[in-house]
Amino acid sequence: MTTVINGAILSKEIRANLHEEVLECTNKYGRAPHLVVILVGENPASISYVTGKEKACREVGFQSTIIRLKENITEDELLKQIDELNNDDLVDGILVQLPLPRHIDEKKVIEAISVSKDVDGFHPINVAKLHLGEKCLLPCTPKGIMTMLKSINVDLQGKNCCVIGRSNIVGKPIASLLVSSNATVTICHSKTVDLKNVTNKADILIVAIGKPKMITKDFVKPGAIVIDVGVNRVDGHLCGDVDYDDCFDVCSAITPVPKGVGPMTITSLM
Ligand code: NDP
Repeated sequence: MTTVINGAILSKEIRANLHEEVLECTNKYGRAPHLVVILVGENPASISYVTGKEKACREVGFQSTIIRLKENITEDELLKQIDELNNDDLVDGILVQLPLPRHIDEKKVIEAISVSKDVDGFHPINVAKLHLGEKCLLPCTPKGIMTMLKSINVDLQGKNCCVIGRSNIVGKPIASLLVSSNATVTICHSKTVDLKNVTNKADILIVAIGKPKMITKDFVKPGAIVIDVGVNRVDGHLCGDVDYDDCFDVCSAITPVPKGVGPMTITSLM
């Protein structure tokens, strides 16, 4: 029987526990942890992500502030804003919602965030520490995927894992975390030759491509665990990069879209 790894249910459990921890923390330190999210412009997807983060903060008892900045803000003004937050002892986490308008250098902005407040885990020092296997702030989506795998008690040691996608926010960091857990990891991308031949050897298949329902059952080894990171909108409906219905009977466990990796990303941020 196939196990559905439901990120919405898992998130609810984790957020309830987190709420208890936040209460303890608030009693101990006299204030709740404070997350500041900077939103530049009015990109609808960004607004929706920021709203989700604000809701999650409320749920776990964090203080949250959204700083809304105009689309035409200069890079210097944004950097100044970040500097102020870095130096504010009442701010614990800073997140700049990406993407930024074209005239602003994202790399510069990410590097301006204090390493200890970089809750997205995108600062080069956090990235380096992740790859060195040192304690650091982890990027949220890979962290959520690891929690999902843990929730079904999978022993990663020696498992063949295949990650499709090599982005800095999903593919590369999840591959690194899996290697640190003693899995044998192959990363595939658009130039991979004979993708099916690689994915068919995977005990765990992680898919982060951005192509609706590209992964059908012929890519999946029978009994594999399939984690679908993709979020695509087709004819007004959300779907993943994995053809869920086609793959369901072949795998031993699978994440749905929606209610899969998405909610776990925000929960990991918390
Ligand atoms: P990117 O566009 O940065 O990376 C996509 C990767 O897929 C690239 O490495 C690309 O290869 C590879 N790829 C593209 N086409 C193919 C193909 N035909 N065969 C094999 N590999 C291919 O995407 P992200 O990593 O940012 O996101 C991936 C998906 O995950 C998107 O749908 C995104 O919306 C979703 N996402 C979901 C999150 C969540 O919380 N649920 C969080 C972040 C992302 P190459 O490098 O060669 O171009």
